[in-house]
Amino acid sequence: MVRPRAAAVSCSFLKSCSLCRLELSPNKDVYMYRGDQGFCSEECRWQQILLDEARERDAAAGIKERQRRGPQARYHTPVVVGRGRPPRKTLAVA
Ligand SMILES: [Zn+2]
Repeated sequence: MVRPRAAAVSCSFLKSCSLCRLELSPNKDVYMYRGDQGFCSEECRWQQILLDEARERDAAAGIKERQRRGPQARYHTPVVVGRGRPPRKTLAVA
């Protein structure tokens, strides 16, 4: 992920909740996390903390996995051409 420069991001990053994308109002409390993420509620911020922790665990596990199985086992995605649409991944959002 490419991070925009701090100057470019400063005016827009608090417009919406980093988790549920709800619009943040300047009149309401914004819950900050890691200094650059704003959330509409404590619950959203907590969800993001949990997501980050899970992601870090996955990343650590992924490195081990790759070393064991080799890169192609994890990253090769079969592409079916001319047989309808590829299966859609459904993102589970808690
Ligand atoms: Zn939210």
